[in-house]
Amino acid sequence: MSVSFGSATHTGLRRSTNEDNLSVREDLGLFVVADGMGGHAAGEVASRTAIDGIVAFVEATLAMSPEQTWPIPFDPSLSANANRLRAGFRMGNRQLAVQIETASELRGMATTAVAMLVDAQVGTLAHVGDSRAYRLRDGQIERLTRDHSWVEEQVRLGALSESAARQHPWRNIVTRALSGSEDLEVEIQEFPLVWGDRLLLCSDGVFAVLSDEQIADTLRLETDPDGACQALIAGANDGGGPDNVTAIVLDLDAG
Ligand code: CA
Repeated sequence: MSVSFGSATHTGLRRSTNEDNLSVREDLGLFVVADGMGGHAAGEVASRTAIDGIVAFVEATLAMSPEQTWPIPFDPSLSANANRLRAGFRMGNRQLAVQIETASELRGMATTAVAMLVDAQVGTLAHVGDSRAYRLRDGQIERLTRDHSWVEEQVRLGALSESAARQHPWRNIVTRALSGSEDLEVEIQEFPLVWGDRLLLCSDGVFAVLSDEQIADTLRLETDPDGACQALIAGANDGGGPDNVTAIVLDLDAG
């Protein structure tokens, strides 16, 4: 199985800075989207710091020889890649704490993140907050992540519809984020990679405007992964571009 991919990020139409960040590391099989929050430039720093921490940890542990001991407690009930991503998120979170400690203007910064680590057979997906992963298989879209957000909890309780959630004034309230605090809980899942699947990682700037079906239409229509990312950004901006918008599309190819 090989992966072809595209990625794009855009400030949107109503924001002056882009607090989203992304990383594509084909050599590691690692793809990350993060959406930072905080005043001034802090959101940008938060998303970049988290991504750098995640990437550095995954890279370092992939380069380790089998006899080397892991720099963090290894959970034997999880795969190596699940351990890697969970610990990578915690490393990124710890780097945020260090930054906040050294610069008072960064206090209160935080970021969501979603990361996909692929090997030959299996995809490992980790997320915190409301950055999402979707899978398009046989033309059908499936949301792989459950947002850690207030509106998602209300949708689950039946108190809000999906479209009402997109409009709700509290739609940006996340219930979990990398913020430098202790004991970050990271949601991890693993699934077999299937040839022909298309995966999307995105920030909430995409789905704040586009419904899951509109996202699916775009993913079905645009065969080129870069073109699909650009089309999602254009779609979000056509809908007013209220937020920064970031997308990574992965196509799982045979061979
Ligand atoms: Ca956002």
